[in-house]
Amino acid sequence: MGSISLEYLFSVHRRLEKEYPDRNSLLVYNNPYQLIVAVSLSAQTTDAGVNRITPELFQRWPNPESLASADIKELETLIHPLGFFHQKARNLVAAAERVVGIYGGEIPREMNQLTSLPGIGRKSANVIRAHVWNLPGIIVDTHFGRVCRRLGLTLAENPEKVERELLLLVPEEMQNDFSMVVNYHGRRYCMAKKPNCRGCPLNDICPHVGVAVRLTSD
Ligand code: SF4
Repeated sequence: MGSISLEYLFSVHRRLEKEYPDRNSLLVYNNPYQLIVAVSLSAQTTDAGVNRITPELFQRWPNPESLASADIKELETLIHPLGFFHQKARNLVAAAERVVGIYGGEIPREMNQLTSLPGIGRKSANVIRAHVWNLPGIIVDTHFGRVCRRLGLTLAENPEKVERELLLLVPEEMQNDFSMVVNYHGRRYCMAKKPNCRGCPLNDICPHVGVAVRLTSD
């Protein structure tokens, strides 16, 4: 892969910004506690599914203190439709215990503190840091990685490697927004199986236009 020009990167960003003027988080939340719960629940399921469950969850357990002492069976029953409910319930309670016990009930903001919470990986930590405190970061999920590979911005498959490479490439002040629009693009046009290259606003600059399906495995 040759070196990537900033002009190319900015052009991708500009076009996607225009394509996705409304790009708020798809998860519904009102405070850092609610976001961390919603993000933790969103693994392997849809944001819409999480949004259907969380109003009741936040009503029953409105803060880390109450969640830390939640009845695990009751929590499992509520989140059952989201899948992996045993693990998710255990993670939520353990994370809440840690927030209360180590961080005095406040959601921590450092990457290593966030990723020390059960159920919170780098992607989730970056989402929380970006949305709550507007801290820069590259948020790598399956959509982001796939679109970046197709756009020739990385060859890496490993999410942490994609993150490291894009952190070097994308200017800090652009990182959160870039993560968001590329993620949207992966859902709207550049889908894993049948990307809509014909309608894609990047189809005149994307190196993988029309051949993406053969070039990627996911
Ligand atoms: S042209 Fe096709 S492969 Fe390239 S970004 Fe658009 S949808 Fe994805």
